[in-house]
Order: sequence, then structure tokens, then C-alpha cells
Amino acid sequence: VNVPNVRLQDGHTIPQLGYGVWQIPDGQAQEAVATALATGYRHIDTARIYDNEAGTGQAIRESGIPRDQVYVTTKLWNDDQGRDRALRAFDDSLVRLGLDHIDLYLIHWPKPAEGLYTETFAALQQLKAEGKVRSVGVSNFQIPHLERLIEATGEVPVINQIELHPRFSQPELREFHARHGIATEAWSPLGQGQILQDPVLTGIATETGATVAQVILRWHLQLGNVVIPKSVTPGRIKENFDIFGFELTDEQVDRITALDVADGRIGPDPDTF
Ligand code: NAD
Repeated sequence: VNVPNVRLQDGHTIPQLGYGVWQIPDGQAQEAVATALATGYRHIDTARIYDNEAGTGQAIRESGIPRDQVYVTTKLWNDDQGRDRALRAFDDSLVRLGLDHIDLYLIHWPKPAEGLYTETFAALQQLKAEGKVRSVGVSNFQIPHLERLIEATGEVPVINQIELHPRFSQPELREFHARHGIATEAWSPLGQGQILQDPVLTGIATETGATVAQVILRWHLQLGNVVIPKSVTPGRIKENFDIFGFELTDEQVDRITALDVADGRIGPDPDTF
């Protein structure tokens, strides 16, 4: 299976389907990531705060897959914002992962009240210039944060990783991304498993013969989102990868997009978190 790539505005590409490892304890991360790599995933999403960079990196190094064929994302945690801390935090992540570069480094949350994200982003640009990271982006940035970042640094993050699933599909933010050439990456793409009983989704699953999880992931792909579902169950890891053999009709995509509700957010509010 060839997973499609999304082209980023810095010229690099990111596999549209990846494997997220939030809440996987470090001791289990090696086995889970090894299962994902054996299944065919070539894009792994971790973060400093997940406390599993070591197990994740070990699985990548021991997989036998050439480094340039695995796309690795990690994220700068909130208390590491600011220029010097960010540079140190990056080096620490690299050591824990046991890798010589990262494909994508993200500011995990904007923390707008602290006012450090523009300075932090400039530090990430320096890491890019030094060749330690291929691409730099952000996570959980709202439109005003993106506007301020672009204005202050003159740089546009290549990607914004945001909460995005059928009950919270972020139409305004996706539209802003499209206008600025920012790729949209969906976290909790399955709504953390909480939306799998939705009758519209189960209905479309029956229509297509796919599972509800596959229908949701297919919806993300057809919207153009990069998507990073998480599971530790080998059968589900495979199921979530097996989404390239069918397509949703435009009408089915629209029915899923219509599930968006104003209070559909599951995770924290980026303005106050
Ligand atoms: P998700 O939407 O991927 O849901 C994962 C849960 O859904 C699993 O724990 C399991 O209970 C269920 N599930 C998964 N596959 C299934 C299947 N095929 N059938 C039935 N149930 C299934 O939620 P997530 O883990 O929150 O998000 C995915 C990834 O996004 C994370 O691992 C992490 O890498 C990233 N993330 C980033 C942020 C951020 O702030 N940037 C926040 C949360 C998550």
C-alpha cells in the first residue's frame, strides 16, 4: 500500500496517514510502534510530554527500515517555550529518540498568556537552518495565534496539528489553513473512540462495508487532512491502515461533515490551556 503524501510549503512531504502514540507507556511503545511499522505505517507522532520518545525511537531504529523512509514528529512541551529552553528541549528529545534529525517539530500548545510562542518558533527555525529538523510547525493554534505568529516572524508554519473529528471539524480554521498553505493535521481523529456509535457513521459503515473507524479516517483523507489515529490493539492498528481500498461519495463526506457541533471539542481549549 502506498500512503499518499501531503506536500508542505517548505517543499517536504508528510505521509497522510500516521500512527499516534499518546497514552502509550514507554515500556509498551516499542512493541506498539514496531507493530505499526510492520503493518506499513511510515509516520509516527510522539511528543516530549507523552514520555515515550525512548521506546518510540528504539522501535524506529531497530525496525531495519531506512531512516529516510520513516517520518518522525515530536513536540515541544509548554514549559520548554522560550528560545534557550526550546533549543535544549529539542536536543533532549533527539537524544531520547536516538535519532540524528526529526522530520517535524511542533510547538505543542500556544500558551498565549505567556506570549512566548513567536520567540519559540524563531528558535525552531534556527533548528531547521541547522538541519536538525526538516520542517517546523505548530499544534493547537487558533486563527489569532497563527496571524500573530506570521506577522511577528514572517514565517508560516507548514502544518497545524489540531483536534479534528466529525463532531468538531473546525471549518473556519481549515479554511484559514487553506488560504495560507498550512497543512491540517487531525489529532483525536476518531474522537478518542467516543463517536463510533453515531448512527450517521454506523449507517455509512453499512453502506460501504467498512468499519466506522475506517469511514471516519477515509473522511479525513478525502478532506485532505493528515491523520494520526492511535490504538495499541494490533487488529485495530491494521484496520486503521486498511483505508485505501474504498472511497466515500461526496454525499457521504457531506453527511459526516454535517455532524459538526459547536460544543464538540473533547480536549482543552487552546486559548486557556
Ligand atoms: P483517537 O481519535 O486516535 O482515538 C484513539 C482511541 O480510539 C483508541 O484508544 C481506541 O480506544 C479507539 N480506537 C482506535 N482505533 C479503533 C478502531 N479501529 N476501532 C474501534 N476503536 C478504535 O485519539 P487520540 O489518541 O487522542 O489521538 C490520536 C493521536 O493524536 C495521539 O496518539 C497523539 O499522537 C495525537 N494527539 C495530539 C494532541 C495534541 O495536542 N497535539 C492531543 C491529543 C492527541
